[in-house]
Amino acid sequence: MLFIEFFTAFFAELGVLIVHVGPVPQKHSLMSQRHGDCVSLPVFILNLLGVDMIPALEALEKLKEGNRRFVAGKSAELHRTHKLVDNQEPFAVVLGCSDSRVPPEILFDQGVGDMFVIRIAGNIVTPLELGSVEFAAVKFGPRLVVVMGHTCCGAVQATVEMLASGKTAETAGLSAGMKTIVEHIGVSVDLQADQTRVVDQTIKANVRNSVKSLREQSQVLIDLSNDDGMMIVGAVYDISTGAVSFLDD
Ligand SMILES: [Zn+2]
Repeated sequence: MLFIEFFTAFFAELGVLIVHVGPVPQKHSLMSQRHGDCVSLPVFILNLLGVDMIPALEALEKLKEGNRRFVAGKSAELHRTHKLVDNQEPFAVVLGCSDSRVPPEILFDQGVGDMFVIRIAGNIVTPLELGSVEFAAVKFGPRLVVVMGHTCCGAVQATVEMLASGKTAETAGLSAGMKTIVEHIGVSVDLQADQTRVVDQTIKANVRNSVKSLREQSQVLIDLSNDDGMMIVGAVYDISTGAVSFLDD
């Protein structure tokens, strides 16, 4: 057994012990869990092991470097096959669109276990996406959260077209699920904008609104931002070039 594997197993047991005998020494830590062969460790156990999560700016640079490799056609093929049974240490959370052309792991040239990815049409933030980001942030300790929209987003295009035609999610006869998506994107649509640019503007505004929701609607994320250097940033992937542009605000 490798040294690190021994201590991982040891502290996994210790983690269970600590949970039973005293308070968890980290505000948002979740308990160690064992499910068959799988053990997942809470952040404070990783800290005891000396596994420190990289800072947000370093995580951001890793994503930028990965995207540069992807654009240059020099992907490192990081699709590792080694087992990540004992734990995972994703250094970033990505909330992206479900569009088949924008898989975050590939376009950031990252491997298995590197990023915790949540995908939904239009990269919106409902309580489910918020909870998923909170879960990843508390459980694994990544310091960077990226909301990533993309050019030519069908969900945004459909929402703009619906509103431009004078319909609403109600009058368009959408299902409850699609209505939720369209209503979230709809708040970012400015029909007074230049019609040749309204979709692109909505794509950026929609990313910014999702970033705002994550920054403001979760006390967990607010605490992590204030106390642990978490950054929540927006980005737009350009389908025609493969490049990701990070928004400044
Ligand atoms: Zn999309």
